[in-house]
Amino acid sequence: MRILLAGGAGFVGSHLGARLLDQGHQLSIVDNLITGRAANLHALETNHAGARLDIRIEDVCALSRFDDPLDAVLHLASPASPVDYLRHPVETLEAGATATRRLLEIARAKSARFLLASTSEVYGDPLEHPQHETYWGHVNPVGPRSVYDEAKRFAEAMATAYARHHGTAVRIARIFNTYGPGMRLDDGRIVPTFISQALRGESITVFGNGSQTRSFCYVDDLVSGLLALLWSDVEGPVNLGAPDEHTVLEMAHYVIQHTNSSSTILHLRLPDDDPRVRRPSIERARLMLGWEPRTTLKQGIAHTVRDLAARLAAGEPANGSNGTPCHGNGDAKNHAIVPEVILRSRSADGVAGEAGRADRARG
Ligand code: NAD
Repeated sequence: MRILLAGGAGFVGSHLGARLLDQGHQLSIVDNLITGRAANLHALETNHAGARLDIRIEDVCALSRFDDPLDAVLHLASPASPVDYLRHPVETLEAGATATRRLLEIARAKSARFLLASTSEVYGDPLEHPQHETYWGHVNPVGPRSVYDEAKRFAEAMATAYARHHGTAVRIARIFNTYGPGMRLDDGRIVPTFISQALRGESITVFGNGSQTRSFCYVDDLVSGLLALLWSDVEGPVNLGAPDEHTVLEMAHYVIQHTNSSSTILHLRLPDDDPRVRRPSIERARLMLGWEPRTTLKQGIAHTVRDLAARLAAGEPANGSNGTPCHGNGDAKNHAIVPEVILRSRSADGVAGEAGRADRARG
């Protein structure tokens, strides 16, 4: 098959790209590297020498035409970590709006399937738990996270309009927290942040008292789910994620234990609108796709620790993907560049005072 993958330099996109190339598909990647890693693209090229792979460093929002025939268009191009979308709020909204429209137009013109990488964030700070696809969500349209949440909600609406009005074969994956090798060291999401901190012997920064819950899906499992959905006939959103739930504090202790680290926990103020709970119902994916995650947390964390440890040992800098400085992993010298919007954080029980401003929102 001939596939256009937008966001192929990113964490999930690069794993998805590798799987598609392994399966013998012809792949065109478009990525502007706003949050992706050039190293991910380099690895795809070197590990798949001779594969039919074409890479364009380009903003999807400016992609007006695509000459080659296509069977599928996969839209993963969006900042995804709270650190990233707070740093690039307008670009994030554009990724949900303009980029989605451009890619849908291409899919329509080619009669190709269209897969949208949506998110559990469309549920906001949910009043229903676990979250089923039928739940409409609880989102603050003007809160700090709205640039991402509302962009994805708009993208889902736009994709659904193309399905209804143009007959485009649209597939919508609502992805819950996913982790694995290849994430940026300064990504800001829970797993790479905790592992990097533990490996460096720094304090593990936990927002609030750490009782908020998240689920953690290993990236190989997610890729299997995305592909099962892509080639299925399933219409409407499908949750993809791990159905078990952990508190953030449990995860911090788990990482400390599995890295044999001497790190201690540092509690920081909870960011605005941080979801208190997050866990998917994956009954629909089980029933319609026969999909469920297979990798245990122990296996997934072990793979991820190995990758991050090797990159830290090789001296990989924890800087931004596009040359911008990182927001730090609790590193005081980076406070000045934390977006103002997340400095207005609410207090929570058992939380350090000034230190609470040090970190950033975390997915
Ligand atoms: P990522 O930031 O690692 O990857 C996103 C990629 O898209 C990057 O390579 C970035 O440079 C590229 N990009 C962004 N805007 C672009 C544009 N306008 N033009 C071209 N390229 C652009 O994020 P990820 O974790 O790999 O997430 C991939 C997709 O999955 C995103 O759409 C995200 O919203 C969704 N998702 C991910 C998770 C997760 O836990 N990883 C959870 C929910 C949803």
